[in-house]
Amino acid sequence: MTVEQSLPICIAGTWRLGGGERYATHYPATGEPVAWLNAASLDDVEAAVQGAHQAFVHSGWAQRKPHERAAVLYRIAALIREQAEELAQLQRQDNGKPISETRALVASAAGTFQFFAAACETLEETITPSRGDFVSMSVYEPMGVVAAITPWNSPIASEAQKVAPALAGGNAVVIKPAEITPLLALQLARLCEQAGLPKGLISVLPGKGSLLGDALTRHPLVKRVSFTGGTRTGKHIAHIAADKMMPVSLELGGKSPTIVLEDADLDHAVAGVLYGIFSSSGEACIAGSRLFVARSLYEPFMARLTAAAAQLRVGDPADEQTQMGPLISAGHRESVERYVALGLAEGGRLRLGGERLRGGLFEQGYFYPPTILEGLGNHQQVCQEEIFGPVLVALPFDTEEDLLEQANDSLYALAAGIWSRDYKRAWALGRRLQAGTVWINTYKQFSISTPFGGWRDSGLGREKGRLGILQYMEQKSLYWGMNPQPLAWAGVEAGQ
Ligand code: NAD
Repeated sequence: MTVEQSLPICIAGTWRLGGGERYATHYPATGEPVAWLNAASLDDVEAAVQGAHQAFVHSGWAQRKPHERAAVLYRIAALIREQAEELAQLQRQDNGKPISETRALVASAAGTFQFFAAACETLEETITPSRGDFVSMSVYEPMGVVAAITPWNSPIASEAQKVAPALAGGNAVVIKPAEITPLLALQLARLCEQAGLPKGLISVLPGKGSLLGDALTRHPLVKRVSFTGGTRTGKHIAHIAADKMMPVSLELGGKSPTIVLEDADLDHAVAGVLYGIFSSSGEACIAGSRLFVARSLYEPFMARLTAAAAQLRVGDPADEQTQMGPLISAGHRESVERYVALGLAEGGRLRLGGERLRGGLFEQGYFYPPTILEGLGNHQQVCQEEIFGPVLVALPFDTEEDLLEQANDSLYALAAGIWSRDYKRAWALGRRLQAGTVWINTYKQFSISTPFGGWRDSGLGREKGRLGILQYMEQKSLYWGMNPQPLAWAGVEAGQ
């Protein structure tokens, strides 16, 4: 198939052209088209949800024993591993992340399927303490059709985090990937089918979120939405869900503080702060984008950090040595540039970066260099809003109380980092920071076995962890009557 031929999309097990408009996806490093496809239409949404519902009701997937569902998930993990290099290269083209990073994302997707297969086959339903003449139990049931709506920054890993627990829980899934990065979700659906997932249980609907994601969220047969993306979209989905009384999980934006105390191990802190903000070119919800440094350490620390940031290798995502690839699109780079200009207008100073890179590949792709702003107050817009690019704002602090007040002063509360040799101090500070995840002497480390999610405008609910599967299941209580006598209230005697 040539690039110009439209790719089929997956509508409840049928692979065909979408009914929506034809569009191309682009390689952010060069701006060249990677694939053409026809977006899904509203009729396709209807067909996907109806087909998913039919598959949920008739395929027997929900009734399979947990270890039988797990076997299919283990096969999906194995197929992802078999095709890891092709998937990583496709992901690189899909969103321009460096190949070293896309390999890690693919490996994490395989790990996610393996983990939820294990969670599925070891999930315990409980007999609750008896408080009457009955045996009481708590069990879990699948929900039906689940919608998984994902952003463009980490395809396959984001999708796996939703699809694996949803399938493990016995549901059907309709994925709405970001319009500009649909390729990995399509490939994942093929692997699910190849692994023996019954037809119809997975669909992929590329196209505009405001049309398709909205319709999917409103659909009466969709029983849960798991969303990762921007806070504004998340709130819109939450409103629709409230009207339907439908559970949702929302993984949203962030403006995470990363804190360097006077006693930090500076080698670790410099490496961790750099990785926290500049890996993925800052296009990460958990990017450590607000840096707080103890005032006594501020100048020497910033000098080291800036020198190291200037050495980061920005360039061709296909090069194994590249640390930062391009941003996702020309429009997104312009938004990052507007934030930097705003920071300067707010009185900030550039310590590093802030100018487009020139020459060679930099003229074609949407590259932006590591950028550090300082001289700003935490209340200012660039310190409060998510930039989602390689822009760090650095602020000195005087006392721990002053630090905590500023670090917690944000609508977002997704993550935070602390660098200190004093574990007792780090513990106390870590408990007082308001964030879904706090990293101490490390940053941006992930484990599928550990729950993840945000507070406040950073989200609702938790993904991952063994109990992540329960997000996709309804809890049910069962009571088994054990009294040989009829219930006393009615006055009916036994044997009469
Ligand atoms: P986005 O909110 O624009 O889009 C996310 C998804 O929602 C896309 O698939 C999009 O098509 C869809 N969508 C858009 N409008 C919709 C609507 N009205 N109804 C239903 N769906 C709709 O976000 P983005 O620009 O793709 O991603 C970047 C954002 O994602 C950042 O804010 C980032 O912080 C956040 N993010 C959060 C996490 C997390 O785990 N907390 C992880 C990655 C990214």
